[in-house]
Parts: sequence; structure tokens; C-alpha cells
Amino acid sequence: MTDKLSGSCLCGAIRYTISAPVAELRACHCTNCQKTSGAGGSVNAAIKSADFRLVQGKPKRYTAVADSGRTLHRYFCGDCGSPIYSQREQTPEIMVVRAGTFDNAGDMKISNNIWTKSKRPWAHIDPSTAQHPGQPDAPAKT
Ligand SMILES: [Zn+2]
Ligand SMILES: [Zn+2]
Repeated sequence: MTDKLSGSCLCGAIRYTISAPVAELRACHCTNCQKTSGAGGSVNAAIKSADFRLVQGKPKRYTAVADSGRTLHRYFCGDCGSPIYSQREQTPEIMVVRAGTFDNAGDMKISNNIWTKSKRPWAHIDPSTAQHPGQPDAPAKT
């Protein structure tokens, strides 16, 4: 896999490339991802923001407090509405890219499911994957 990963929104106004390999995906079943996808949640690749390059277009930004309590910026196409990626306000160096916008997903697999406590009744979760009822890397509450 030497080709760069590329992706776009549905209408093609936004195009991007990712210069690092992606193998593992994380499915998020949080209520915000359900609303923003209109489906059971989102499937994502967490990458370094430095490896992401917008080659066309400029996504719109919507900011909301996530189920984790963190402020999350969600970027999407203002023309067709496709969600493209999200970034936590506290960690702009990490980007969480919606895997459904990749042009080609090769043999990527979901290895983790998070926020399973709010999963929709129709969600099928592969029992061989790691499952977390909430945010696995949330800061400890003291
Ligand atoms: Zn679009
Ligand atoms: Zn989510």
C-alpha cells in the first residue's frame, strides 16, 4: 500500500489526502454521531492532523459538546452535508476522519467500538472487537 489514501464528500466539493497508512478503524455509537450521520453512528480513522491535506474545498464547522463532555468540532461539506472529520478542541493535532468518505478502504477493519451503551438496537457489533460502553480514553473523573 504505497498509494496515498484519498477521500471526498458526496458531491466532490471537498477532497483530501492522508499520507499515513490506516488499518484500524473505530466505530462510535454516541448519540451525537447518530444524529450527524442519520445512522447508527460513525466509523473513523484517528490520524495525525499533519498527515491530512485538504486538496479541494473548505469544510464547514459545527461545534458541540460531545457525550464525553469535551468540546468537539465537526467538519462537513456545506453543499452536500457529508461529515468529513472531527477534532477535539483540546487536541487539534489529532483528526478523526469518517472512514465512509475514503475513496478506497482496502482491507481496513473495525477494531474498537465505543459508546456501546447508546448503540441503536439495529447495530451489529463484531464480538471479536474491543467494546467500550463510553469513551475509553476519557480523563479520570476525580
Ligand atoms: Zn459535498
Ligand atoms: Zn461519536
